[in-house]
Amino acid sequence: MNAQTGLTTRIARWANRRSLSESDTSTAAVSEREATRNRSSREIDRRRALYDDIGEFLFNNDLDLTVVNFGLAYDYLTGNDHQIEKAVRAILADQGRITNSVAEQIIAERHSKDVSVESLSTMLNTVEENLNHFSKLATESSSSASDYGAALQEQVQGMDSKAESEPLVSTLVNLTRSMVEKSRQIENEMRASQKKTRELQHSLERARKAAEHDHLTGLPNRRAFEARLNEEVAAAMENGEALSVAFCDIDHFKHVNDEHGHDTGDRVLKFVGSLLTKISGEKCHVARHGGEEFVLLFRGKTVGEACDIVDHTRQDLASRNLVDRNTGERMKQVSFSGGVADVFAYADPREALKAADRALYLAKEHGRNRVYMAAEVA
Ligand code: GH3
Ligand code: MG
Ligand code: MG
Repeated sequence: MNAQTGLTTRIARWANRRSLSESDTSTAAVSEREATRNRSSREIDRRRALYDDIGEFLFNNDLDLTVVNFGLAYDYLTGNDHQIEKAVRAILADQGRITNSVAEQIIAERHSKDVSVESLSTMLNTVEENLNHFSKLATESSSSASDYGAALQEQVQGMDSKAESEPLVSTLVNLTRSMVEKSRQIENEMRASQKKTRELQHSLERARKAAEHDHLTGLPNRRAFEARLNEEVAAAMENGEALSVAFCDIDHFKHVNDEHGHDTGDRVLKFVGSLLTKISGEKCHVARHGGEEFVLLFRGKTVGEACDIVDHTRQDLASRNLVDRNTGERMKQVSFSGGVADVFAYADPREALKAADRALYLAKEHGRNRVYMAAEVA
């Protein structure tokens, strides 16, 4: 084999290898593409099935199409959030279906630990501070842009008369005119951002209210109550006033739900909330502590006086003939039990809350539909 044949053979071998490896690569590329296509079609099928399941869940429970409900359905069906899955499962087992308000409650409770009273209030304060700062800057900048525009305008008017005879002046006049135009634009943009800032401030205010209010009864929630408790303790100490705290818990509320449904249960909750609101005022604060439990703070009232006020509302509720709006049926008597404590009789206001809760527990034990003072049972 001479050198020429050797080279030809080598080239032929190389070409052969190359075509083989090319066909290999192209086969590999095709199967890779197919695998990707299969994967993405499986993924699409999986997503489609999930959307169907979420839709079915929302439809079967008659839930509104909100982001909250969609997220809850997603977390429940995929098991993405174990706590939500557990809570939804428990409600479904207990009540058969989930309502909009229960869904909101589950989500709110799930995230209540993420946001403490302090962290929420610090967050909102920071945003508010930044907005105020920006708003001030925007006002200053927009007025200086407007001053600048007015000054330029004045210059332009002075120069106009000379412009006809002097071409250079005319160029300057045109330049200055375009600057006037620009400064107007800036002024308008500053105004627009000021408007946006104000809108943001309003949204912030709404967010603050939503974070501190119970959506069902419209009363302040437990978070707002805790903040209020600190303020009222400080105010009562400063003025040398008494401060009492009361817990009220609807009796056998589970039966109301079981017998009349959750929606009627919700209306009863609102009604009890409205009766308690009647006694609230500048020095008396009512909040929904959670579930079917309400909490009240009485500044300037001794534990005995607070107990009488709560007892009066208890009698009022117990004497009502409530009717289930859905069926027209008369409901069994709805009542609540209460426990009241003197905040300053304990080293820490939280101890007083516990004492009021213990008194409530005893009121339940002794037959319900009654209000106990913590002192009576200590
Ligand atoms: P007790 O007299 O011992 O307080 O009995 P109860 O049935 O009132 O108390 P329990 O704690 O056993 O049940 C409270 C029920 O309140 C269970 C829960 O489903 C219901 N509930 C909690 N929040 C809501 C709500 O927002 N709406 C409705 N309709 N029910 C609620
Ligand atoms: Mg109860
Ligand atoms: Mg309860």
